[in-house]
Amino acid sequence: MAESGQHTRRCGYVAIVGRPNVGKSTLLNHLLGQKISITSRKPQTTRHQVVGIKTTTDYQVVFVDTPGLHSREPRAINRYMNRAASNAMADVDAVLMVLDRTSWNDEDQMVLQQVQRCGVPTILVVNKIDLLTDKTMLLPHLEFLSSQGNFAAVVPVSALQNQAVSSLEHELVKLLPMADFFFPEEQITDRSQRFLAAELVREKITRQLGDELPYAVAVEIEEFKTLDKVIHISALILVERSGQKKILIGSGGSRLKSIGSEARRDMEKLFDQKVMLRLWIKIRSGWSDDERALRSLGYNDV
Ligand code: GDP
Ligand code: MG
Repeated sequence: MAESGQHTRRCGYVAIVGRPNVGKSTLLNHLLGQKISITSRKPQTTRHQVVGIKTTTDYQVVFVDTPGLHSREPRAINRYMNRAASNAMADVDAVLMVLDRTSWNDEDQMVLQQVQRCGVPTILVVNKIDLLTDKTMLLPHLEFLSSQGNFAAVVPVSALQNQAVSSLEHELVKLLPMADFFFPEEQITDRSQRFLAAELVREKITRQLGDELPYAVAVEIEEFKTLDKVIHISALILVERSGQKKILIGSGGSRLKSIGSEARRDMEKLFDQKVMLRLWIKIRSGWSDDERALRSLGYNDV
């Protein structure tokens, strides 16, 4: 046992919260330096919490996405938050609460209430300052915002233009406990590339056919290998009935083709490599009861 209990580095979980459109995803991507989180207009497509990890020599920040907070319906936010408060938020070491400039409305107030109920140290991030025409008004506004809650810091940034994002990171790291890194240093997400590939296929299916194929679809990656700098991916789409298979294929195979090419394009961006994607469809009734399928779909951790 070489461990003496003396930690020299910091490591912790961080949630980014705030009402829709304030710039949470943009901020996350800039903090990470790369696009990790996979989003969709249908909240149900995020069955798993997407996590991004930022590692330097001195610290590791594990970002936890809170999909329910992207909802446009205030009551849905409330419902989600009440549930999620016990997991996503209460388990984190710090919260970044993002605002659109200096505006402060009921929705912000509600988010703040939930955040402070968890008692987690919170940094208020005043985003989109590039859009402020009158910069002299910023200081009095920041003072007003500071008085709205108990914040560890109030930091104005522009996520889009990457202004002051490093100062924010500096403030954030101070809130993390001294601890060993939770994840290997080279890891940028706790989900494998296979998982991300499957999520992208599922996202495209839901986006293109959401109303016609309600949650009856699962995606399993059968092959994922790199050959001559090209990633070859073979994905099996599981449906429950032949009618669903027909819808997925579309007339003359057009629907499946379009799902495949959209998914491939996103994979190439995410993996920064050329991708050959093959999609298969199989009918497996009651797939959700099949334990092997569940495991391969990433449900082993629930
Ligand atoms: P989210 O819903 O909170 O995740 O917000 P997004 O990150 O999707 O951003 C919503 C919109 O605001 C997008 O059009 C972004 O380009 C824009 N945006 C985000 N951050 C900034 C910023 O710092 N300045 C400006 N001008 N626009 C921003
Ligand atoms: Mg977002």
